[in-house]
This record gives sequence, C-alpha cells and structure tokens, in this order.
Amino acid sequence: VRLNTAVSEIRPEEKRVELENGNSLPFDALVVATGAVPRSLGVPGEDTPGIFSLRNLTDAIRIKEFIAARPAKRAVLVGAGFVSLEMCEAFREAGLAVTVVHLERLPMRRLGEDFGQKILEELHKNDVRFMAETHVTGFDSTPDGQVRVYTDNGRLETDIVLTGIGIRPRVSPAVDAGITLGPTGAIAVDDHMRTNLPFVYAAGDCCESYHRISGKPVYYPLGDIANKQGRVAGANIGGQNLSFPGVVGSNCFKVFDLEVAGTGLTEKEARAAGFDATAITIEDDSKPSSYPGAAKLSLRMVADSGSGRLLGAQAVGGDGVVSRVNILAAAVTAGLALEELAYIDLAYAPPFAGSQDPIHIAARQLLK
Ligand SMILES: Cc1cc2nc3c(=O)[nH]c(=O)nc-3n(C[C@H](O)[C@H](O)[C@H](O)COP(=O)(O)OP(=O)(O)OC[C@H]3O[C@@H](n4cnc5c(N)ncnc54)[C@H](O)[C@@H]3O)c2cc1C
Repeated sequence: VRLNTAVSEIRPEEKRVELENGNSLPFDALVVATGAVPRSLGVPGEDTPGIFSLRNLTDAIRIKEFIAARPAKRAVLVGAGFVSLEMCEAFREAGLAVTVVHLERLPMRRLGEDFGQKILEELHKNDVRFMAETHVTGFDSTPDGQVRVYTDNGRLETDIVLTGIGIRPRVSPAVDAGITLGPTGAIAVDDHMRTNLPFVYAAGDCCESYHRISGKPVYYPLGDIANKQGRVAGANIGGQNLSFPGVVGSNCFKVFDLEVAGTGLTEKEARAAGFDATAITIEDDSKPSSYPGAAKLSLRMVADSGSGRLLGAQAVGGDGVVSRVNILAAAVTAGLALEELAYIDLAYAPPFAGSQDPIHIAARQLLK
C-alpha cells in the first residue's frame, strides 16, 4: 500500500501508471477507484478560511479541530442533501447555532413536497434555521476571522461554513487514458465492471451503475454500491466470472429523530422512465401505537398501473422506516406486484410492527 501517492497518468498500452512522485508502477490489471470530488459553488471567496466540504475522514477531523480551536458558535451549511442534513445534527450536538442555505423551497425535493416538509419540520424542531430559495453569491472574512456569507437574501456571519451541494465523479486521469464516460458523466462499465479498455476496471463513486428498473445508467455514489462493485471487479481480475447485477437505488439517512429512506423510482422518475405509474402515500404507526417507541411513519409506494408491479417506495418517519424500505427494495428487485405485497408474510410481534404492516396497508390501498 502506497499512502499519499497519486497516479498522474495511466498508460494502458504500456500497462503502467505514472505516479506524481516521478515513479511508475506496472500492472496486469488496473482498477480505477478514484471516487468523487465535491462540487464547488463557483462564487468569489470560496477559499476563505473557515469554509469546508466533507468528503473523507481527513475533512471530518479538520472540521472537528477547527470547531474546537475557535471555539465555533455558528455554522452555515450550503445545500440540503443528505450529508448537509446529517451535519446539521452533528453541529447542533456540538452546540453550534445552525443555518441551512438552500436553493429550493424544501430539502430533498426528490422525495416530494410532503416528505420535504416533514424534514423541514424536523430541522425547525431542532432549532435549525432554513433559508429557502436562497443563492450564495460569495464569501469573505471579517478582521476577526468570521466568515461572511453573501446571499441574494441577505448577509450572514459565521465561524464555519460547510458546502454540501453534491459531488461529481473524479474521472481524471482515466479520461486522458481514453477511458470512456457514460451519459451520466461517470466512467462507463459493463456488468463485470470492465471499462472500454482491456484490463482496466472501474468501481465506486467514479463510475456509473445500471438501474435495474429504469434500465438506464445512473450515477449513485454510495458506499454499499462501491463496495459491491469493488468486490466484483476484484473477483473477475482474480479469475472468477462475476456480474454486478445493478442497483435499484436504495438509500437511507437520518436527520435528528427522523429516518428517511427510499428504493426504486419515485412516481416522477417512473413516469420519466416510461411507466404508467401510480402512487399512494399512507401514514401509519411503526408498531402498535400503545407500544413504547411507536412513531408515525409515512410510506409512499409507486407501482405500474397495468401490471401492479412495485417500482419504488419512499418513507419518512420516527421509527421502522429503513426496515420497511429494505423489504420493499427486495420486492422491487424481485419484481413483486401489489397483490403479492398486500398479503406478504412479514414477521409480526408488537415490539416490531402491527399485524397489518404499513406495507400491507399501502399495497392494498394502491390496488383499489
Ligand atoms: C459524509 C459522508 C457520508 C456518507 N454516508 C454514506 C452512507 O451512509 N451510506 C452510503 O452508502 N454512502 C455514504 N457516503 C458515500 C460513500 O462514502 C462513498 O460512496 C464511498 O466512499 C465511495 O467509495 P470509493 O472508494 O469509490 O471513493 P472514495 O472513498 O472517495 O475513495 C477514492 C480514493 O481515491 C483516491 N484518489 C483519487 N484520485 C487518485 C489518484 N489520481 N491517485 C491515487 N489516488 C487517488 C482518493 O484520494 C480517495 O482516497 C457518504 C459520503 C460522505 C462524504
């Protein structure tokens, strides 16, 4: 393992990589796993001290040390994706006053207005200020080292800024070596994780995945996908013949006491993929309401109108969200239809669920 060693160039025809330190390494097979880079805002002053992005453990340590050294009292987060929302909780726990500056009216727009509203309420419940429909236009610092955040909605002063406006695949130096990108802008791979170049594989946040429901390439930079892709690439290099079957887009995160999860397609995505999609949203208890720890859970199911096949599900709530979405991830993968889900034999005992699970209820209502 060579730490702190960057590859500057891939020479496939010579089966060699050039290192930034002037050395080179020969290979029989190469795996490109260069990950992703945080998107920048492209506004003046982005290099002002006190502005961070969070991509890896080193970033996390830097942020933690900065907060402790100052000590910081206020944080501004730019963007309201899952990393920003998780960081709201971390900053609040560290005792900071938190403001989220977001381009849109609600966080996590993909999940729909109603679920975005629930996430917003959770932020408000935890004293996070949310500045909606606000563009950051620049940064600078005050003489005493505070960061000034300029927006089209006024100016903020803060100790620390975290930008979390998404990531893009790190495709250099792969592109310069002739490795092809797919329509998402990430490295294109086949089901064996091979790129267009013989002996060169790619895995993780630098490459695309095949979406099993839409049948299209997607860019889902997630850790579990990266891990599986890496295993498949490694196994194939080691002489096995493994296929990575693709993804259904399962994801989850937690914002304070709210669990958020999804799998498959949203209704809008399903329509865009050509399905005659229909959806229903129900609200139920995660377990019998008399049982300690029960919480409200909203579950949306998306199905194909004609066949009844489940295409996706999204859920938000205080408890039991991820377990439901994981069941539905298996259902989406297997192509189960609503008829099957309406009476599917799920494990039941009051500490975990009601005898009629939210999955049964949603499936039956959507069947009507
Ligand atoms: C705060 C945060 C929370 C997350 N939480 C979740 C979660 O809960 N669930 C989930 O599924 N995913 C989560 N993710 C995403 C997950 O971390 C990534 O999908 C995963 O780390 C991708 O792994 P990777 O190996 O492809 O890329 P990375 O982990 O980014 O690793 C790429 C490595 O390649 C190195 N590199 C790049 N270019 C070169 C070069 N030219 N030469 C040598 N080395 C190079 C980089 O320095 C880096 O070390 C989270 C990400 C963040 C930032």
